[in-house]
Amino acid sequence: MIKIENYIDGELVTPINDRYLPNYEPATGLHYSDVPESDASDVQAAVEAAEQAASEWARTPAERRAQYLWNIAEGIETKLSQLAKAEAIDNGKPLSLAQTVDIPRAAANFRFFAHAITQFSSEAHIMEEVAINYTHRHPLGVVGCISPWNLPLYLFTWKIAPALAAGNTVVAKPSELTPMTAYLLAEICIENDLPPGVLNIIHGTGLSAGVELVKHPTVKAISFTGGTNTGADIARIAAPMFKKLSLELGGKNPVLIFADCDYEKMLQTTVASSFRNQGQICLCGSRIFVERSIYNRFKADFIARVKELTIGDPLLPTTQMGAVVSEAHQQKILSYIRLPEGGEILTGGDAVRVPGRCEKGWFVAPTVIEGRAYDCRTNQEEIFGLVVTLTPFDTEEEVLQYANSTPYGLAAVVWTNHLQRAHRVAAQLQTGIVWVNCWMLRDLRTPFGGMKNSGVGREGGFEALRFFTDAQNVCVHL
Ligand code: NDP
Repeated sequence: MIKIENYIDGELVTPINDRYLPNYEPATGLHYSDVPESDASDVQAAVEAAEQAASEWARTPAERRAQYLWNIAEGIETKLSQLAKAEAIDNGKPLSLAQTVDIPRAAANFRFFAHAITQFSSEAHIMEEVAINYTHRHPLGVVGCISPWNLPLYLFTWKIAPALAAGNTVVAKPSELTPMTAYLLAEICIENDLPPGVLNIIHGTGLSAGVELVKHPTVKAISFTGGTNTGADIARIAAPMFKKLSLELGGKNPVLIFADCDYEKMLQTTVASSFRNQGQICLCGSRIFVERSIYNRFKADFIARVKELTIGDPLLPTTQMGAVVSEAHQQKILSYIRLPEGGEILTGGDAVRVPGRCEKGWFVAPTVIEGRAYDCRTNQEEIFGLVVTLTPFDTEEEVLQYANSTPYGLAAVVWTNHLQRAHRVAAQLQTGIVWVNCWMLRDLRTPFGGMKNSGVGREGGFEALRFFTDAQNVCVHL
């Protein structure tokens, strides 16, 4: 049984209370490793180590910091197979997805911010012959990063890399449901001689470790990705302490399909945007609105494609759909499918039994429902897995009203070849990200984040480096 350890002050250490939680493999339902149940004393030790390392790391030239990040990226790439397998076992996602998306992206995060920090510059504001103002961006000191289980290493590194690049030291907490690749990242940092205390990784639950990190007075900023309710809890603690907060929260993303789209490309992409990673990507589109003239054709073709998806052991190369992350999450998904809100389940609708090794795993069939009202719970609340609804529409005004009707505003997808419509509709969608005729096409330089209850602040590119620094204006009288 693997025993995961915290990473504090450059070393792998057991939690001070010596308490561990069982970590399960979702595809088998089996307890296969133990994860520390860290508490306030471990957070204290990690914050002290980070504080100790802070001034030296902040003084380290950007090029040198970039070199450390670059080395970590190479360390991740060298161990791609091991990390991808660990991610697939820990999370239930298909190994092929971890190999091609999660782990390469984790390496790309480090590499991207290694480049970005050497290109980062700030503004000067010239008052003609009176004065020159320049903006000096200082690292914040010790910052906290908290990430969820759905894209474990991908999202963990998306926060850690810019924080380190900007000259901060970090205490980070991955989800206790998927701690394994964060543990392996600690090994990579040790192998690459990252100075002790620069990055510290604490494992444990949100309530035992996450809250302690948020309320620690030395931690100057919290970058959090997770559920909207958790984001509100964090804001309640952090706001009165005047911490900087970046909150990337839940979503209920609409997909708007107009009859004039490139039909085959749309169909193929919509299967992916509905069910990739078992629908457990914050950017998945779960409400599909289809212009009435192609509704029946789309429905038939979409159902046929969804039925072809191979559900099975995540470690098999043929598997397209793995397990969902936990039994509790499986039950949550099924409870939404069973809501007495009318409509018809066109395919899926239940748990799936995968014979053999995965007999006790937590699988759900990809589920498509039609005929539920746009404002019912199924269409308003985040399910975060494997359930999409189909709704026809007649006009742009109508579909925009449906699309914007939820409290969320993370992402939207628009399918149309009508140039003016594409821009007109995109501008009226209340979401931080709009994809037109594509999905999940990511340029790491672009601002990433949600409107409304999907978050506060933006990650990505220089936005992240600005978040992880404090702007100081220096005014020099001439
Ligand atoms: P949670 O909000 O439950 O947890 C996220 C992280 O916060 C975990 O590490 C969790 O710890 C920790 N945590 C929980 N409670 C607290 C607390 N009170 N104080 C501090 N930390 C806490 O989200 P999930 O892990 O269930 O992730 C799914 C959610 O993430 C979905 O809503 C999804 O939309 C959202 N998400 C948003 C993205 C975006 O970019 N906007 C991207 C990906 C996901 P632990 O789990 O160990 O208890």
